[in-house]
Amino acid sequence: ARPLEAFELYRFYHAGEDETAALRGVSLQIHAGEFVALTGPSGSGKSTLLACLAGLDEPDGGHVEVMGLRMSRRPEAVRAALRARHIGILMQSENLFDHLTVEANMKFQMSLAGQIEPKTIDGLLDTVGLAPRRHARPSQLSGGEAARAGLAVALSANPHVLLADEPTAEVDAATEAAILAHLLDRCRGGAAVLIATHSSALAAQAHRLLRIRDGRLIHD
Ligand code: ADP
Ligand code: ADP
Repeated sequence: ARPLEAFELYRFYHAGEDETAALRGVSLQIHAGEFVALTGPSGSGKSTLLACLAGLDEPDGGHVEVMGLRMSRRPEAVRAALRARHIGILMQSENLFDHLTVEANMKFQMSLAGQIEPKTIDGLLDTVGLAPRRHARPSQLSGGEAARAGLAVALSANPHVLLADEPTAEVDAATEAAILAHLLDRCRGGAAVLIATHSSALAAQAHRLLRIRDGRLIHD
């Protein structure tokens, strides 16, 4: 099955009399082992698209399939289970539980997907440069550290699909390079990676560039 596929996605936002069409018929496929960068001006629909692909938001039209399974318009519990099993979401640090340490957050994410691998935890903490902070809680971390902890948690479950929204916006150049190398490694292992980014370093490494403008995809 294809890791990720979107069929004619539409998403409208309403504010009083005004209607914004954030997505206007977006279709795409991401294959196993593919690293795809998504670029586009601010307000073009990148975040809305990623949220729909992750099943965090529901499209008003069209649907999303993950590993051949329909995710859209299914009960939240079904979408949550599909997410936990197949999708890693790298978006700021929203995936951190504050009553758990960084390491415990990673273990929890792994347990959702089925197994805990101590070696993977050590390797990921080194990749994001957080080994010394593994026993800290999210509220004790700086903004940059929390962003890196969010990445480590998203990568913990070894998912088939990785979705990222500006994953390196808050990290230094060395950490960006380490994260990029790690993502490319995941691709070689068969993961499908889609990244919304303004970073030319990330975009330059992509196998394919997708451009979005006014809610429509322009394929390069
Ligand atoms: P990007 O991530 O490319 O900056 P977004 O997906 O955030 O774009 O936004 C796409 C369009 O949808 C923009 O016009 C934005 O103003 C609008 N939009 C996004 N989220 C909301 C919301 N919650 N309510 C109303 N309009 C929204
Ligand atoms: P970064 O460049 O990663 O954002 P900072 O320079 O902001 O890092 O932080 C350096 C150190 O200070 C880190 O070890 C961090 O844990 C600590 N620190 C920064 N801000 C806070 C905060 N609001 N609460 C607790 N610790 C903090």
